[in-house]
Amino acid sequence: LAVLMSGLISLHPTFPSLATWEARRGRTDAGSRSDMTDVLEAKLTKRGRFRGDRKWTISQSGTCGRGVFATCDIASGELVFADLPILHGPKQSCDLVACTSCSDITRPLRKCSRNCHLPFCSERCENDESHNKECCYLRSLNLTEEEWSPHIFRALTLIRSLLMTDDDREVVKHLHANRGKQVDIQVSSLLSLLGNKLTETDVSWVRHCSGVLDGTAFEIELEDSANSLKGLFPLSALMNHNCVPNTRHFYTDRADGYRMVVVASRFIPRGEQIFTSYCPLLWGTSLRRTFLLHTKHFQCECERCQDASEFGTNLQAVKCSCEKIMLPEDPTNFNSEWKCEDCGGLRSAKHNIMVQKSLQNPNELDKFLPEGNYIRIQMKIDEVFKKTKRMHLEDITEEELRNISHDCIMILKLIVQLKLGNTRFKGRLCERLSKVYREMNRKGVHMDSQVEHDAVTGARVYNLPK
Ligand SMILES: [Zn+2]
Ligand SMILES: [Zn+2]
Ligand SMILES: [Zn+2]
Ligand SMILES: [Zn+2]
Repeated sequence: LAVLMSGLISLHPTFPSLATWEARRGRTDAGSRSDMTDVLEAKLTKRGRFRGDRKWTISQSGTCGRGVFATCDIASGELVFADLPILHGPKQSCDLVACTSCSDITRPLRKCSRNCHLPFCSERCENDESHNKECCYLRSLNLTEEEWSPHIFRALTLIRSLLMTDDDREVVKHLHANRGKQVDIQVSSLLSLLGNKLTETDVSWVRHCSGVLDGTAFEIELEDSANSLKGLFPLSALMNHNCVPNTRHFYTDRADGYRMVVVASRFIPRGEQIFTSYCPLLWGTSLRRTFLLHTKHFQCECERCQDASEFGTNLQAVKCSCEKIMLPEDPTNFNSEWKCEDCGGLRSAKHNIMVQKSLQNPNELDKFLPEGNYIRIQMKIDEVFKKTKRMHLEDITEEELRNISHDCIMILKLIVQLKLGNTRFKGRLCERLSKVYREMNRKGVHMDSQVEHDAVTGARVYNLPK
């Protein structure tokens, strides 16, 4: 809850004018877009980085510039494409310092014995082929650090951008670069490390790459580790956002090059645009749109964002003083008034945010938020995952098992109602639910008709994704 609340607070909108965010998105880029699309598509195809038959093309989408489109029908669960990162490395904002090669954070770190000032966990990692190029480059700069340097480690992704092949540079040149404060900060922290060693061309290249990373990088989640990396995937970077995406994705391991595997989360007919989501799917509309505006500099206008009730889920509804629910009159306007569906009472968006910020404990939430509000849903989700984390669930009472299964079913129904298809989250939730059912079976818990009904409904939506 604290995280969610601090998220709300830090995102409290001080909205830039339309002109400002258009400029940040770099909408003023010169050059013919369709030519760029052809060049980019040819380059991406030539690089042969994509596994399987090609099922996509790059094309202009009506509202959001370029997009990736399906060239054939793609079944739910089918591979859409698998994209190799053109650039990857530590997140610049990351507090964790990990081994440069294997990203391990549990073993003690020492500096590279050739003295490039990057940290490693072992001799083997230090001698990894992937480290050669950057090691030579960093040594050639004659930096004065004594030990390994967390600053150089954090700047490594941008340093690697300077070492890209010409062919890769050609691809990245054609990708959209964000501008703004975040990019300035990243570039200036690199300049403070290597400033006098870089040419003007280097600096403008790093600025472009930093802008591309800011706008389109994905977070590579590492299995069995709290650590994650930043990756620039040239084809994935062209996928537009939708709050009801039609794909899910996961990453392969280091040995496979951290490939991003994009899979259809529902049936995608030929010609349809292939979408991903840049934000959590169970957030309410105003939080999603605020997050997207601040981090990706655009205002989402998708079908879900335009429907105040989010397909009848009332996910972001708040309670009116008459106990019925209030929703924004115009969900795509941050300053819209919120209206009670029953008594017609009105409340300003600002007032709503103030009240949400003032909520300190879960009991207060009930007063202000109806049961289906996304903040209360998120608390339920946290509970379910916390309670079912252990291998065995013997300690959980029958009553509690029943409650957990009801909560799981409720969340699964919500996922269906939001038309989210077979997301990874749904897969994880189904795993937990089946664990609960197994334990109920083992205990010989009498399934009341409600639980049985839920089990049947659950089975129907139980199309477990990988
Ligand atoms: Zn290592
Ligand atoms: Zn080295
Ligand atoms: Zn949207
Ligand atoms: Zn009311």
